[in-house]
Amino acid sequence: AQGHMQLQRFPVEKGEKLRAWDAADEYLLNDVAAKLALFENPRVLLINDSFGALAVALHAVQPCSVSDSFISQQATVANLALNALPVDAVQLFNSLRLPAGEFDFILIKVPKTLAYLEDILIRLQSALKPDTQLIVAGMVKNLPASVWQTVERLVGRTVPSKAVKKARLIYATPDEQRCIPANPYPLTYQLENTDYQICNHANVFSHKNLDIGTRYFLANLPQHNKYRQVVDLGCGNGLVGLIFAANNPAAQLHFIDESFMAVASAQQNFEHAFKTRKATFTAADALTDFAPDSIDLVLCNPPFHQQTTIGSHIAMRMFNQAKKVLRTGGELWVIGNRHLGYQASLKKYFSSVELVASNAKFIIVKASN
Ligand code: SAM
Repeated sequence: AQGHMQLQRFPVEKGEKLRAWDAADEYLLNDVAAKLALFENPRVLLINDSFGALAVALHAVQPCSVSDSFISQQATVANLALNALPVDAVQLFNSLRLPAGEFDFILIKVPKTLAYLEDILIRLQSALKPDTQLIVAGMVKNLPASVWQTVERLVGRTVPSKAVKKARLIYATPDEQRCIPANPYPLTYQLENTDYQICNHANVFSHKNLDIGTRYFLANLPQHNKYRQVVDLGCGNGLVGLIFAANNPAAQLHFIDESFMAVASAQQNFEHAFKTRKATFTAADALTDFAPDSIDLVLCNPPFHQQTTIGSHIAMRMFNQAKKVLRTGGELWVIGNRHLGYQASLKKYFSSVELVASNAKFIIVKASN
């Protein structure tokens, strides 16, 4: 099915060495090609397609594609264009709004977070009919027993394929007797030493409890009252911006994350805490949408992976973009693990880089020009 596709990763990087698809995508596409051919108009649902490889390859059946990632959706649209395909060949849905109706095929690229798989399988129940072919594809290292058990529990009997190029498929047959539990997501916890109830959708960073790095950041946020336009960059559940806002009543907060579930959680938490106070909540790729010289403060606990690829490339892009959107004298405050060496990296973009706080595990750095 994948014939001669052109595919790019997103965001597009000069000299990119990584491919926009993996052996699990290839395996899945080869596997379903013949099965799809037996249907006249199969309804196909894609879940968690990384950069649009599945959507582009299967465009002829006009699949629905559900993703929690703004960047994946952007990549899908761009990769359709790259292959001269119309954008409406695929219907895109964000992870909180699933398409209606039943599907003949549900093709899932295994997500990094088991909670997200669990949440989406519970919410997909009405998309399953007795003969729906549900296939979970992934690299063997991303398919631990807990994935199988979750699929078995929420869909029905599973059968594994053999491994090919370190990728595997799990075929699941809907069990008509299955008992579906109430959805535990979103999860809520009370933020320590406060009255705030923090809501976390399933795919949000540290959705069960307060992350220790975030806790350290919260204890060492900027104290000065001078900042007006403030971005919580990679906001997750929005705790960093929320606590900053509580101490700075005049600040205008902007919450940005590339995960739709993160942005929805941050919005719910902020609106619950402040009722009528205005802020912006946007699913976006870092600071792409901000004008130069428009921001006084960026607060950031950067991600250290994109999907399953680990690396500091997103953090570096965030630092570079922060340099552009900050006003003269504006500040970027970053928390990171000591071993990530953010102080040295920030010196490539900022003339002043100051260590604000550190403990055995984390450093907090303030950078400005
Ligand atoms: N700020 C939260 C905290 O401190 O608990 C979450 C920090 S978590 C380490 C990093 C966040 O960055 C994740 O929520 C992730 O979805 C988000 N992220 C990753 N890549 C991004 C991008 N290109 N643009 C915006 N957010 C991104």
